[in-house]
Amino acid sequence: MRGKSDVLVIGAGVVGCAIARELAKFNLETVLLEKENDVCGGVSKGNSGVLHTGLYYPKGSLKGKLCVEGRLMFPKLAKQLNIPYKLCGKHVIARTDEELKDLEGLKAVGEANGAKGLTIISGKELKKREPNVDALSALYSPVAGIMLPYLFTIALAENALSNGVKIHVETKVLNIEQVNSGYKVSTTQGVFYSDIIVNSAGLYADRISAMLGLDKYKLYPCRGEYLILDKNCGELINSMIYPVPPKIAGVLGVHLTPTIEGNVLIGPSAEFINMREDQRTTKEKIKQLMSGAKELLPSIPLNEIIYGFSAMRSKITPPEEKGSRDFIIREDIENFVNLIGIESPGLTSSPAIAKMVVQMIKKRKDITEKIDFDPTRRRTTPFRESSRSQQASLIKGDPTYGEMVCRCEHVSKREVIDALNNPFSARTISAVKYRTGAGMGRCHGGFCLPKIVEILNEEYGMFPKEIYLKNLNSPLFIGTTKELREKRKSE
Ligand SMILES: Cc1cc2nc3c(=O)[nH]c(=O)nc-3n(C[C@H](O)[C@H](O)[C@H](O)COP(=O)(O)OP(=O)(O)OC[C@H]3O[C@@H](n4cnc5c(N)ncnc54)[C@H](O)[C@@H]3O)c2cc1C
Repeated sequence: MRGKSDVLVIGAGVVGCAIARELAKFNLETVLLEKENDVCGGVSKGNSGVLHTGLYYPKGSLKGKLCVEGRLMFPKLAKQLNIPYKLCGKHVIARTDEELKDLEGLKAVGEANGAKGLTIISGKELKKREPNVDALSALYSPVAGIMLPYLFTIALAENALSNGVKIHVETKVLNIEQVNSGYKVSTTQGVFYSDIIVNSAGLYADRISAMLGLDKYKLYPCRGEYLILDKNCGELINSMIYPVPPKIAGVLGVHLTPTIEGNVLIGPSAEFINMREDQRTTKEKIKQLMSGAKELLPSIPLNEIIYGFSAMRSKITPPEEKGSRDFIIREDIENFVNLIGIESPGLTSSPAIAKMVVQMIKKRKDITEKIDFDPTRRRTTPFRESSRSQQASLIKGDPTYGEMVCRCEHVSKREVIDALNNPFSARTISAVKYRTGAGMGRCHGGFCLPKIVEILNEEYGMFPKEIYLKNLNSPLFIGTTKELREKRKSE
């Protein structure tokens, strides 16, 4: 038995980590379980990273309410957790007379949800702000923003951990049973007991729910693909550029999003697929994204695309319904809180979802606030953000700061080692990438990946065959050339 907790949260995505951190404010034994070998192994690591303002969700919906609340909570949270974000604003552009009417509708919905500062501007005004974009008119949302979703999730988890939450990675929940005193949770790392369970397993939340006989939920994976433009295109747009959402798809349409790192994201596409783990990018969608991007920004230099990736929406809406349903956040069985269908705007809403879940738990348990909760997370300034003189003194104190591992993103060996010393012992290439940015630049790991492999070998004695890109399904090496040659000969 792995111990007994007051609350056990399943899934260390942005929602589970936000809930765990919120629970850390109280005198509670809280446990967070994650099946992957690091926190943020699911959809929270790859999305548009947009802080939405509530334009798209019906008044009175949880999506509308929690999105606006979460967005408002974000600046304080970002300061406490020491993570970057930018309120760069967003323009939803209208290119036809019909779309002009849609802008009024979006504005009305946003205002009903409590979004502030929405204005409709002329095409001429848009041109002044966004010289590369042509449209008849645009809806401007000044407080929409961008952030780094993976860094936000990691920061929430680290802060929860430093405030006493027990976080177990590589711990997949296999079964849950109701027992007299609460719940018995069987995992790949033994059995946990808890009074209360919060199911925030993202794309697998329906399967977790079914473990307790609640099989009324079914999630439909809907893949979204993205393309990334090189940083030298960062000045093409000053704000997010969105189309009027397509009426039938229940998604927002291909948009252009500046990123905190200075790239531009194109995407996402929307495609219902059968396999939840199928994170491919496809020729067909790449073409679709390129043409969607050209419609928004005709001069977009598509030869500057450096990478593509995909992410999976967990939709409650079946494909034939072609719409979007609201988040489901409810205590389906006593002391078992289900979070189902937390698709967009789940990232923006996560701090507000966490508050809502804690309110639900307060109704079940008498809980008191911890007096020593520390909301802040310390972060060392990245080498690339330090001044020349600071860099010189860093190198003087520790020469590994002077060894550049990632030349595109200027990440030093010291920072790679610090990232590998993360509290979750995630020793993968992705663990370094999400913590330092190494591998996110123009060459996308061509230069730094072998160097990180070398560091894993030198510092942790890991053999190449033990090194993974992200999880145990992604080995980087399958053997030495000699071994493979011998094997082929014997076949
Ligand atoms: C293409 C796309 C674009 C998006 N853009 C935005 C945006 O710009 N703004 C916004 O607000 N939202 C956006 N979203 C939505 C947002 O990404 C999600 O709502 C949010 O990340 C959901 O977080 P989560 O914690 O619920 O899920 P996840 O991050 O998937 O976390 C669930 C975790 O549960 C773990 N897990 C699953 N099963 C088990 C098990 N049996 N045992 C233990 N652990 C388990 C998983 O490994 C995973 O880490 C976007 C989503 C997509 C797909």
